[in-house]
Amino acid sequence: MDISVVIPLFNEDESLPELHSWIQRVMNEHNLSYEVVFVDDGSTDHSWQIITQLQQQDVNVKGIKFRRNYGKSPALYCGFAKAQGNVVITMDADLQDSPDEIPELYRMITEEGYDLVSGYKQKRYDPLSKTIPTKLFNATARKVSGIPNLHDFNCGLKAYRREVVKNIEVYGEMHRYIPYLAKNAGFSKIGEKVVHHQARKFGQSKFMGLNRFVNGYLDLLSLWFLNSFGLKPMHVFGFLGSLMFAVGLLAVMIVGGIKLVAICQGVPAPLVAHSPWFYISLTMMILGTQLFVAGFLGELISRNAEGRNNYHIETEL
Ligand code: UDP
Ligand code: MG
Repeated sequence: MDISVVIPLFNEDESLPELHSWIQRVMNEHNLSYEVVFVDDGSTDHSWQIITQLQQQDVNVKGIKFRRNYGKSPALYCGFAKAQGNVVITMDADLQDSPDEIPELYRMITEEGYDLVSGYKQKRYDPLSKTIPTKLFNATARKVSGIPNLHDFNCGLKAYRREVVKNIEVYGEMHRYIPYLAKNAGFSKIGEKVVHHQARKFGQSKFMGLNRFVNGYLDLLSLWFLNSFGLKPMHVFGFLGSLMFAVGLLAVMIVGGIKLVAICQGVPAPLVAHSPWFYISLTMMILGTQLFVAGFLGELISRNAEGRNNYHIETEL
């Protein structure tokens, strides 16, 4: 099979028939064998009935229905597990992404050898409250992830070589960082294609408000940490702990030194508790020890973690 189109959706019944016939038309025009995997993320409207009907008309339609709403990442995770095509395309169900982009994305993966091609909604039809935070977010994501050529990490329209989706784990709200996940799994040929974007035809965006921004940054921080130190937590906590402990030790010596000098000169020694160095030594030594202990605990956890030896082997002879 050439292509699997994975579509996560939550209450999008109005768009589904048009989306399906559009995909079908594009695939037939280009002679591509395909499947469409609709993942119904606990919709409360008629989405699932529509998917069932589409499945009866078209054997290429497959569906997964969650019992409740888990989020876009879990929906993608299950869609990826089911996908069988050589190239996997993800797109949103709201008709904002155009199926006409599929053939070119497919070509970039199969002929130009990309592992992942992300869409770039250069001209975007969304409210300013979404587009401005997104610019900031993408700038940070580019820096942290070390993928400097991507402008639109969270574009719903993306294409992957099959191995990529089988080797990454999209959980929580990590769908924003799939290119980063792919890069951490060793898939480094990541490209971009400018794609057409349309205003939402039906319904409302499911991602609004400030918390998507805050959570987005926290997730980026977690990913960065996990990738850098997930398997060796002592390297970060031990280093910071030692550094703080050393500063604390130095401060103790200064406090003691001041006292000693005063005694030698025969003048009344100043009270230790009046010296700022005393407080610095206290906090630094306590914090240093704590960080060190955190490092040991981290090592214990990662040594027992189930996935500690999950390496992605590319080939074997
Ligand atoms: N979606 C989902 N589960 C959710 C929220 C959204 O599967 O909990 C789907 C949604 O139906 C759509 C896609 O994720 O197909 C992108 O959502 P939306 O269009 O609301 O996001 P936006 O384009 O506004 O960023
Ligand atoms: Mg949308």
